[in-house]
Amino acid sequence: LVCASKRVIFATMLVLDGKIAAAAVKEQIAKEVQLLIAGQKRVPHLAAILIGNNPASQAYVGNKVKTCAELGFESTLIAEPAMEEADLLSLIEKLNKDTTIDGILVQLPLPKNINEEKIIMAIDPQKDVDGFHPINVGKMAIGSPSYLPATPYGIMLMLEHFKIETSGKHCVVLGRSNIVGTPMSILLSRNTNPGNCTVTLCHSRTQNLAQHLLPADIIVAAIGIPFFVKEEMVKHGAVIIDVGINSIEAPEKKSGKRLVGDVDYEALKEKVSAMTPVPGGVGLMTIAGLMQNTLNARLNKPN
Ligand code: NAD
Repeated sequence: LVCASKRVIFATMLVLDGKIAAAAVKEQIAKEVQLLIAGQKRVPHLAAILIGNNPASQAYVGNKVKTCAELGFESTLIAEPAMEEADLLSLIEKLNKDTTIDGILVQLPLPKNINEEKIIMAIDPQKDVDGFHPINVGKMAIGSPSYLPATPYGIMLMLEHFKIETSGKHCVVLGRSNIVGTPMSILLSRNTNPGNCTVTLCHSRTQNLAQHLLPADIIVAAIGIPFFVKEEMVKHGAVIIDVGINSIEAPEKKSGKRLVGDVDYEALKEKVSAMTPVPGGVGLMTIAGLMQNTLNARLNKPN
């Protein structure tokens, strides 16, 4: 910690490296799989469904299937360029009944002809390893064992791995989506460790956003706007979890694009005490959360 002309500089900001935290979670999962194999028991089996030709979705599902193989899980990938809603519902019904399948993942977004809510509702809550089914969301809200939404769960695993103190801290969550912001606000306010935060949930209608952000000890940014959180909005020593994945133009890159988060990382890296990079932060923890859910589903042990 260095003091220079009234400015406190965190010379040693802790990079909340998703590679390191995810590797630790995955190592533990792989050990559990080895125990199943040693006991001649079935390994976890994830069924992933991908409809359409969205390149980002293809990359996400590809990573999930690859990680299954890395951990010794079985996986089944069902990829179709298009599908009728009724056919997808029948497929889910078949997977629900298949006792060799532990987890079902339907990659979102789905093409416009398919009602996402209907699809999420059709998945057996005990196989809902993305944690989107209202039964799991409800159980999460009342603190009962459930399958937690993979991204907020991954963030909790990351906070735990890096031993970030959350109890009694003031956390501001930016964004109220069903997959990130809202469940994150619930998990951080539960009586758990990590947890026990005092949470403020900000969204597109929040007034004086900077006024809410400034006192925050922990900020979770999940809005999808590049560099939205700026240096002057954040107090010295805060912890920042950047969930955003935004593609921006980068003429210096061969692809002409690069991925950035919702936070101005370069401007904040000397001001905050810990921060996730993008890429290489929360994205890797999302996959770790999904894998942990799939193992938990195999063992019939929601958390
Ligand atoms: P979303 O579009 O569903 O929700 C965005 C939220 O941001 C909304 O609740 C909205 O109220 C809020 N918002 C928008 N503009 C705002 C503003 N000016 N001020 C305050 N709040 C504002 O997004 P999402 O699905 O939650 O995703 C958010 C970001 O996180 C995206 O960049 C997405 O790509 C990324 N993401 C990353 C992962 C990961 O694994 N790293 C997982 C899911 C989503």
